[in-house]
Amino acid sequence: MLTVTNKDDVTAIKGSVKRGGISMSVYLYIVDELLIDTGPARLQRELASQLEKQHYNKIILTHHHEDHTGNAHSLSKGVPIYSHATGIELCKQQPKLPFYRKVFWGNRKPFSPMPLGHQVRTEHCTFDVIHTPGHAPDHVALLEKDKGWLFSGDLYVMSKPKSIFAFESIPDIIDSIEKVMQCDFETMYCSHSGVLPNGRVRLEEKLTYLKAVQYDVLSKHHEGKSASIIQKELFPSAHPLHYFSLFENSPKHIVTSIITRSSPQSCKKV
Ligand SMILES: [Zn+2]
Repeated sequence: MLTVTNKDDVTAIKGSVKRGGISMSVYLYIVDELLIDTGPARLQRELASQLEKQHYNKIILTHHHEDHTGNAHSLSKGVPIYSHATGIELCKQQPKLPFYRKVFWGNRKPFSPMPLGHQVRTEHCTFDVIHTPGHAPDHVALLEKDKGWLFSGDLYVMSKPKSIFAFESIPDIIDSIEKVMQCDFETMYCSHSGVLPNGRVRLEEKLTYLKAVQYDVLSKHHEGKSASIIQKELFPSAHPLHYFSLFENSPKHIVTSIITRSSPQSCKKV
């Protein structure tokens, strides 16, 4: 079941997936004639019939993950589709997804996006494309300066993550959030948390939290503690997703991504 809302000339299409006691929402956005992301293959039928009623003539992908590109193959047949240049090869390949991700979001077929430029114009909007790696190498956020909007893909999702995926990097996410915080925006359009009118405050909260975690991990690391001890001390609780994902999602990756890129300069208290 999808929920469709329209506010400030932005259409938000919300879908939900539930599996194994875990529930996640996913949002697609339409502004003027631009569709941002295509949703997971698991919701293909519902999304296809909803998107038939909408008007769009180009698609931008925030990144290549299957919950954002699951319907790109079919939708890109009649409409040009764009991703960051670093995502093109990833989208052309059949992804080797872990079993739990195939079961949860569905698989995605390969497709061939075109490279995004630095700016995208629609009838009433101009979007700056901001490369924001950390969650994925090809991740982009779209900034509409005049309206104060940031389409943030998976850059935010939540203020205080207690675990991340093996392919993510906390230091890179910190760099990307710092990059977008230099821009003017208030409202954030998140791919999993929806429309956040106080988006700037929420993203600032996440930045403060991640920097504090980075400081704590590095302090313990410099005391000579191992990654597994640091994990136990800072993130003692378990979550069903850790087991469901066979630990592809785990607090361990927060700790190791910080230690891997540690340097004396990054050990600063915020
Ligand atoms: Zn993602």
